[in-house]
Amino acid sequence: MTRDLQPAALPIREDDDAIAKALERASIPTLMMSMVHLTGDTRLLRGAIRPRKAIMSEVQGGMPKEEKAAVRAQALEILKDYRDGGCRLPPPPSPDTIHQMMSFMVGEEVPAEYVPMMMEEMALDGKDARDVHWDRDRLTEAKRDFHVVVIGSGMSGILTAIRLEQAGIPYTVIEKNDSVGGTWLENAYPGCRVDIANHFYCYSFEPNHDWPQFFSQQKDLLQYLEHCATKYGVREHTRFRTEVVAAHFDEGDSSWQVRVRSRDGREETLRANAVISAVGQLNRPKLPDVPGLETFRGPAFHTAQWESEHDLEGVRVAVIGTGASALQLVPEVAKVAGRLVVFQRSAAWMVPNPNYHANVSDGKKWCLKHLPYYARWYRFLLFWPGSDGLLPSLVIDPDWPHPDRSINELNEGMRQIFTNYMKAQVGNDPELLAKVVPPYPPFGKRMLQDNGSWLAALKRDNVELVTEGIAEITADAVIARDGTRYPTDVLVFATGFHANKFLWPMEIVGRGGVVLGERWADDPRAYLGITVPDFPNLYCLYGPATNLAHAGSIIFHSECQLRYIMGCLKALLEGGFAAMEVRRDVHDAFNEKLDATLARMVWSHPGMTSWYKNSKGRVTTTSPWRLVDYWRWTMEPDPGDYDWTH
Ligand code: NAP
Repeated sequence: MTRDLQPAALPIREDDDAIAKALERASIPTLMMSMVHLTGDTRLLRGAIRPRKAIMSEVQGGMPKEEKAAVRAQALEILKDYRDGGCRLPPPPSPDTIHQMMSFMVGEEVPAEYVPMMMEEMALDGKDARDVHWDRDRLTEAKRDFHVVVIGSGMSGILTAIRLEQAGIPYTVIEKNDSVGGTWLENAYPGCRVDIANHFYCYSFEPNHDWPQFFSQQKDLLQYLEHCATKYGVREHTRFRTEVVAAHFDEGDSSWQVRVRSRDGREETLRANAVISAVGQLNRPKLPDVPGLETFRGPAFHTAQWESEHDLEGVRVAVIGTGASALQLVPEVAKVAGRLVVFQRSAAWMVPNPNYHANVSDGKKWCLKHLPYYARWYRFLLFWPGSDGLLPSLVIDPDWPHPDRSINELNEGMRQIFTNYMKAQVGNDPELLAKVVPPYPPFGKRMLQDNGSWLAALKRDNVELVTEGIAEITADAVIARDGTRYPTDVLVFATGFHANKFLWPMEIVGRGGVVLGERWADDPRAYLGITVPDFPNLYCLYGPATNLAHAGSIIFHSECQLRYIMGCLKALLEGGFAAMEVRRDVHDAFNEKLDATLARMVWSHPGMTSWYKNSKGRVTTTSPWRLVDYWRWTMEPDPGDYDWTH
């Protein structure tokens, strides 16, 4: 794997034909940006050939064939000169030119407030701007006496370890599994893959130009995270097969006493100055509450606890649930099962994405590795259409006349597009169409990515979609509410996770004996999703209201949160403080604003259940904020937001 923040990692040595062949696969808007870097000539930005408005999962800027061919021809000449001249680049474009390039590339004005955030994400200067840049050798003595316990070694736990290592702060990662990877280790069901574009869904400081697919499979994501853990020495600091059972704040010396239990049952208490939870939101599998579940005699397991030893060839499989996991799993199981029955409680909206299962061509990989700044601009092109542009369309219009089916005019337009997409696939089967088109507004639940494989699977002769609801499960069958019996050999629960029980089942006890699980119940709240009153020096990654359902990638969000947390640790150490605790009024004011904002968003619409909502229908998991606001708020902690203990 080539991961390099350098603009053009590899020099070009290929002959003209090989370059031309690779350019056939290039993203043309991205190629045009590379051409500006190659020549220093900005006339391209004022020419007639230009990308149209960028849309998600479309990396050719909607440009017609002839325009793309013209750009390729021009690029070939420029690249020949670059190669023959020894791969030397002119001075980099000015910040103003970079801003112009951004707007040119996505066919719309990129507002100035987004430029610094995007610059950081792109790292055109080769610098990892989200590192706290805290000299390892400063405060060595204070750091020596400071210890951080990180809970979890998934994507955000590895990131935390990397940042702590860079800052020279001693830490221990506690991981319940045998290895790193978290969600990408546990979710090993057939068909599991990422559904955020992979060249963006990776750490900003650790790009990967070798993703095999635009939305790669679980094993490739796991391999990437394993590579990062190894490269940055995370494993050496990790205690595997060990779970955090409890953490108690000791007011005497402002430390956390973290009780851990290894798989052999041995318990031990670790002392920490700070605890960083990196346990994710979707980590504890949830089984359906169906009578008779425990009486089923065959293999029965959750998607996140896949039992690969069972051969599904020719057997009768029942899958309960039709969320993101089922959408990926069902097409794969349908290929081998003798009979597959899918039990749907609610239909899901899906976004057409023809690239969802597509491979990245060798030509594209070559461009990512060889064309100066190409990979960085490609990241921007993936990020921009999936940033804040969509957010206004997810706000409920109180005067909208069809409040059950959509929330505003734009949302209704999306409903038409997504419905037509399904209609075109279903063909002449009104019964199936009625089952698969959701009654609630698009974006109400998590949108799923689709390339047609879901409905193709449901249309197969060996597959049946049951919407009657489940009455009970017996030793060898699932019984629907209409009394139909579905004989079943293997039962799969694609029923999601206990998303609202944050940090559960750990017992976290803060100042004054306050128990976090009792304080939160299923109504968790935090300041910025990160810190909680009465729980000094406890920091959450992917905490309450930080899930992204309108944009971005959770890696971007974790990088923002971690920069903030590292800023907190820096303030503690530099100020010689023992503890910091968010002020209640600051926390409450933030949460009032959060509630008011969320109440207007599509996710709060009463027409559907989802893991975004708690038992009372309040959205607890998901962020309503513009990415650019959250990015700004998490740049560094405001000391005035906290009470400090010496
Ligand atoms: P989920 O979205 O919570 O879906 C659970 C499904 O199970 C829903 O269809 C739900 O129906 C159904 N269900 C639950 N209890 C049931 C019952 N008693 N009877 C019948 N059906 C029942 O869970 P998920 O699919 O595992 O996905 C969770 C999240 O994980 C996703 O939204 C996504 O954020 C993440 N994920 C991501 C990827 C990816 O990016 N590649 C893949 C998988 C998961 P209702 O809708 O009616 O509640």
